[in-house]
Amino acid sequence: MTRFLILTAALLLASNAFSQKIYKRTLLLMGSRFDITVVANDSARGNSYIDLAVGEISRIERLISEWDPKSRTSEINRNAGIHPVQVENELFGLIERSIGISKLTDGAFDISYAAMDKIWKFDGSMKEMPTDEAIKASVEKVGYRNIILDRTQSTVFLKIPGMKIGFGAIGKGYAADKAKALLMERGVPAGIVNASGDMNTWGKQPGGEEWKIAITNPLNKNKVFAVLPIQEGAVVTSGNYEKYVIFNGKRYSHIIDPKTGYPATGIISATVFAPKAELADALATSVFVMGIEVGLDRINQLPGVECVIIDDNGKIYTSKHIQINKI
Ligand code: ADP
Ligand code: MG
Repeated sequence: MTRFLILTAALLLASNAFSQKIYKRTLLLMGSRFDITVVANDSARGNSYIDLAVGEISRIERLISEWDPKSRTSEINRNAGIHPVQVENELFGLIERSIGISKLTDGAFDISYAAMDKIWKFDGSMKEMPTDEAIKASVEKVGYRNIILDRTQSTVFLKIPGMKIGFGAIGKGYAADKAKALLMERGVPAGIVNASGDMNTWGKQPGGEEWKIAITNPLNKNKVFAVLPIQEGAVVTSGNYEKYVIFNGKRYSHIIDPKTGYPATGIISATVFAPKAELADALATSVFVMGIEVGLDRINQLPGVECVIIDDNGKIYTSKHIQINKI
């Protein structure tokens, strides 16, 4: 994935010389826009904290990128059907937790989606729906049960030749968690790591106020329909209002059901609140595949996890404990 700097200037948002201030930088990492915000006493410290976060996210990108031939993930993919690959504890853990989320979502979430044939195109170029056979065949090599982990050897083996794993639906969340953890460990009192809408916060704003997250309705992007305070946690939105294709009046999203090969339908946006961005990221993607009813039911069973779903018609659904102060 290419990485280039969009903006390096730290923005000074508050102006009291003796109080803490907010410093923010926007840049492209992991092929996505990241906005990193920290609270610090002066700009030198603010900038060095942001540098630390950028270093951490870049390190993770080098580990999990399926596009970078030098990454450990690429090595696992190259050796599919050939032999197990020894990996660092960190990557082993991420893969293990990804498989855990596959089990939790009955396979709606699956990092082995990466071996899917790209028969769907969401750029307007598709003229007709693929045949049932082509759709079925497209997911032949997909299936998390064929990812074989050996904890004592710390190895990962993809059983079927041509199998692949990819972290498109969980990697940004993981990177946001790690950047946040590193900054907290260094004593940064508060901040936000925002990975293209995967928000991870800690602490409070310099005035003592909580960070607030605005949720917009994708069918009417200029209108915020809820503003929620957030303390220590993550909020992730998976949206489907840009990448989709319509056949016979039905809208198919860019998130695909790994079991059937069919794109998810019915949902236009899913926002998940969870203690960790990694889980929130993976679940937001899963909700698309599970659908509204099963998705809500699954989320309602998870302690500390909530969600807001918007369907194709703009109707809003929320999990059990969520309180939206509609504005
Ligand atoms: P985005 O990063 O576009 O906001 P998501 O976090 O929902 O959206 O991730 C979507 C990406 O996840 C897809 O582009 C693809 O790389 C990957 N993906 C698609 N379907 C699945 C799935 N069922 N399980 C795991 N990953 C998926
Ligand atoms: Mg996701």
